[in-house]
Amino acid sequence: QTIPANLKATVAAHAQELALVDRHSERRWTYAEFDRDTDALAIGLLERGVKKGERVGIWAQNVAEWALVQYATAKIGAILVNVNPSYRSHELEYVAEQSGMSMLISQISAPPHSDFYAIATEVAGKVAGLELVFIDTVPADLLGDAVIGERESFAHLIGTGRDLLDDGAAKYSVRLEKLAGELAMDDPINIQYTSGTTGFPKGVTLSHHNILNNGFFIGELLSYSAKDSVVLPVPYYHCFGMVIGNLAALSHGAAIILPSPGFDPGAALSAVSEEKATSLYGVPTMFIGELEHPDFSSYDLSSLRTGVMAGSPCPVEIMKRVISDMNMDEVAICYGMTETSPVSMMTRVDDTLEARTQTVGRVMPHLEIKIADPVTGQAVPRGQKGELCTRGYAVMLGYWENQEKTAEAIDASRWIHTGDLGIMDDNGYVDISGRIKDMVIRGGENVYPREVEEFLYHHPSIRDVQVVGVADEKYGEELMAWVILKDGFDSLTAAEVREFCNGKLAHFKIPRYVEVRESFPMTVSGKIRKIELREEGEKIIQ
Ligand code: ATP
Ligand code: MG
Repeated sequence: QTIPANLKATVAAHAQELALVDRHSERRWTYAEFDRDTDALAIGLLERGVKKGERVGIWAQNVAEWALVQYATAKIGAILVNVNPSYRSHELEYVAEQSGMSMLISQISAPPHSDFYAIATEVAGKVAGLELVFIDTVPADLLGDAVIGERESFAHLIGTGRDLLDDGAAKYSVRLEKLAGELAMDDPINIQYTSGTTGFPKGVTLSHHNILNNGFFIGELLSYSAKDSVVLPVPYYHCFGMVIGNLAALSHGAAIILPSPGFDPGAALSAVSEEKATSLYGVPTMFIGELEHPDFSSYDLSSLRTGVMAGSPCPVEIMKRVISDMNMDEVAICYGMTETSPVSMMTRVDDTLEARTQTVGRVMPHLEIKIADPVTGQAVPRGQKGELCTRGYAVMLGYWENQEKTAEAIDASRWIHTGDLGIMDDNGYVDISGRIKDMVIRGGENVYPREVEEFLYHHPSIRDVQVVGVADEKYGEELMAWVILKDGFDSLTAAEVREFCNGKLAHFKIPRYVEVRESFPMTVSGKIRKIELREEGEKIIQ
């Protein structure tokens, strides 16, 4: 199926149910309204000359317009290019050029960044043929003081479509239906740039089939129905928001609830409580922020049933608290990467608590997973560590206009190499040990920072911890633990940490250095940039 065909089917079954709620702007759409507004926007885009296969960028936070643009572009077969809202001019220009973008739909201001308008305008001056449309249908705090002309107005774009639909419903619906008939499920529909956790972001090209099928199966495994409402604090520009969020929910008649444009733990908690939401998403640091929120106990979370934690290693302690303190009995861990649409493995509700907190579950339906020797590509025996590889429908079409990188990632037998290390047990459950790039080699011993972090989470004063390797003359690399302390604690020394580890961890896994900080450097998708922690750490010990 294509995305528009799938939406039509959901609308037919759930026309009057809630599809989308934007709490910041206090707007709501039923499925019928969502379908009509995305039709209107699609017609607006067609009238502006946007064609199938053309690249339309969106540079915005979690505002409802993001979802409207996602579905409107899919309806006309334009390729949506997700642009990270934390990008600034250099990165925006790069993705606009690299993807050959012809239109950019941009937010005007996104406090504390008031410069979206200025940057978009500057970049449009450099990228040939790039038209701008500014989202002027949001509350005042997201508008800034830019003066938007008619051609650059989102309100005008969608308004044109609404007027045409009102006047000539039959004519325009027929036009959209005809277009939908020409879409193929393997057409490229989306370019997502990877998080850039390990280097420069790469443009991942995905088809209707890649992301819709993945979203659909995620929704199946979370038992989504029209009774569910999903609070989405994770960013839309990332596959976590647009696939695990939008596509999983909207292919099952569930509602998406946007708590706030940028992440705000209090807004996420009040969205759950006031909307009586059944599902909540987050990367581990978001759940930590919510659990540690000073007013945590005042929110009513009894409506929660399920949710997803993903994106980076999910600490066992945090998973347990999400289940017990947030009522998320059926919460799932998902594992994946942008290049696989994203989810390739996931825990299931009927897995044991141990499997649901300590592994990323088993392979998703219709996909294959292999743990391979990173050098030979041969599968290793169960219980042995190796590189995780994935094969099947969810594997991307390729990196956008980068055959060389595509060939490095996808081998001749169509396996994609993830760069992550894992161990598969006899029943197919996989434990992720970390990224090959993060592995620390200390005095010839391989140390997986993940294992040390899991141990340190048990320390009474540690709220969050990241372990990295820093260059060392004697051992090649030494371990450094960066910690964020719990409220009420104000110091932690390396000696105290070593004392805590002595006798419990092998000597070469015990951090030599401990540094305390208030927060970690993060990508917008919520991943911690270990590279930065490593660089900073090396400066400190020099
Ligand atoms: P880049 O490829 O640009 O360096 P990135 O790999 O972080 O960035 P994404 O595609 O957003 O970009 O993230 C995929 C990666 O996130 C995976 O390869 C894996 O390392 C990590 N990851 C995702 N889910 C999990 C999980 N449940 N447990 C552990 N790691 C995870
Ligand atoms: Mg990656």
